[in-house]
Amino acid sequence: MDLKALIREIPDFPRPGVSFKDITTVMRDPAALAYIIRSMARRFRDERIEMVVGVESRGFALGSPLAYELGAGFVLIRKPGKLPADKIRVEYELEYGMDALEIHKDALAPGQRVLMVDDLLATGGTMGAAARLVQQLGAQIVGFAFLIELAYLGGRQRLEAMGFDSDRILA
Ligand code: 5GP
Repeated sequence: MDLKALIREIPDFPRPGVSFKDITTVMRDPAALAYIIRSMARRFRDERIEMVVGVESRGFALGSPLAYELGAGFVLIRKPGKLPADKIRVEYELEYGMDALEIHKDALAPGQRVLMVDDLLATGGTMGAAARLVQQLGAQIVGFAFLIELAYLGGRQRLEAMGFDSDRILA
């Protein structure tokens, strides 16, 4: 299926010079959504995934049906101030300034087999930070699933530098 044709490019969003990949035009297509979730599930079907972890907010839209498809639970990594219970936080650098992500302390158990999901891998700063949170809770990251990879931004290499095999990064 030609998913690329369904991605809408928005020039100069959210700021001049950036060409934003809008996935709402993919998600609203029933056949495309089914194809994406089934393709991701097929890759990790035999990996005994116990928890899918989605990164706010487009990671939720893909991660939750993927968890259902894999028979796994679903865990949210959120932007600061959104999670209500005891949580841990990690800060990470953006192009301009800092951002942070949080996860509930009791969201994952040590050793649990986890699949990380987001819509897009660019520099890998976001997913790298999300992975650090999951590792701090002692869970085991089995793989990563993205709908889009902007390969020229080096996110895959950043995750590899953290010790993750490229063949466990699906994009
Ligand atoms: P990174 O941290 O890898 O540089 O950027 C990836 C994060 O930024 C993801 O959470 C992703 O949702 C968001 N992001 C950055 N650029 C785009 C884009 O063009 N389209 C979409 N849908 N998300 C983007």
